[in-house]
Amino acid sequence: MKISKIAVWHLNLPLSKPYWLSGGRLKFEKLDSTIVRIDSDEGLHGWGESCPWGETYLPAFGGGARAAIELLAPTLLGENPVQIEKLNRLMDVNLPGHLYAKSAIDMACWDIIGKKAGLPLCDLLGGRATDYVLTNSSISTGTPEEMNGYIADARARGYTVHSAKVGGPDVSKDIERIEAIAAALPSKEKVTFDVNRAWTSGTAIEVMNRVAGVANSWFEQPCETFNQCLHVRRNTRQPILLDECMHTMNDHILAYKEGACEGVKVKPNRLGGITKCKQVRDFGISVGWQMHIEDVGGTVLADTATMHLAQSTPIENQLASWIAHDHLVDDIAPGQGARNVNGKTSAPDLPGIGVEPELELLAEPIVVYA
Ligand code: MG
Repeated sequence: MKISKIAVWHLNLPLSKPYWLSGGRLKFEKLDSTIVRIDSDEGLHGWGESCPWGETYLPAFGGGARAAIELLAPTLLGENPVQIEKLNRLMDVNLPGHLYAKSAIDMACWDIIGKKAGLPLCDLLGGRATDYVLTNSSISTGTPEEMNGYIADARARGYTVHSAKVGGPDVSKDIERIEAIAAALPSKEKVTFDVNRAWTSGTAIEVMNRVAGVANSWFEQPCETFNQCLHVRRNTRQPILLDECMHTMNDHILAYKEGACEGVKVKPNRLGGITKCKQVRDFGISVGWQMHIEDVGGTVLADTATMHLAQSTPIENQLASWIAHDHLVDDIAPGQGARNVNGKTSAPDLPGIGVEPELELLAEPIVVYA
């Protein structure tokens, strides 16, 4: 089988309400998504998506994804889309870095692999391990009262696991937020306080030790760099998840060797696709990490591809998964894919990813490489 055509769509996706990153540092009102359809000479096709969160959350942006795909397309045409490891090495040789851009290509090839095999991705990624994956809410930074209101809204939609964004410049306000959220949280629910890199290591150590009695809570990516987070790990007690500072397999090996965390976020757009996420996910299982497996952003396409990986992960290694498309106004595949249903989701039992975007909703591709 050979890749015969790569079509690219550019979507501006408004968020249903503005989103404030931890500490109110960044405000996002839309996502910039790149959708890719790869066609093969055997008539099979696959869909993939690259969608950073906002434009400035990570060193990844929509225009960069499309430029990288333009550069990679001549290399990819004529290659066998089912030879996924070879294809990833080819992409890495021809364009080091730019993992977010490669994610869309890798995802589309996995869709073809599943269709060729007649199996849903979760069967190919290890086998469906659970009946469902818990979904978690994403709670913008606000006053303690506002944040508890957002959590109550999420609870009404079935969410029992919450990701609350903290990390403002005022230590006492963060302590107030954490204590108020913890005090209002039913004992069967869980919360991760996601700092999105906002604290210095000194602030993280101060806040986390002041709220050390708060139960059922994890802290996520307290500081910008790995070494800062490691310093926090060595001076606090709560379980820590690492997210934004993790990019390569080597980062994950180092984190385990140093005892830097109890779990990680596994995201195709940050790590470079389903192939590299599977490597990290399998490593995480082997070292006993608990993981949130979800994408950085995107439509039901990226979410569903990622839920296949999440659902093929043993229950003891799953924390929860975020459904990005739940925050969007537009839907490119109504009724399809992994949806949030009362705080749970499940990957479809269809060959491949199991999402076919509706062409009339995508409109015309911005470019077709053939
Ligand atoms: Mg995070």
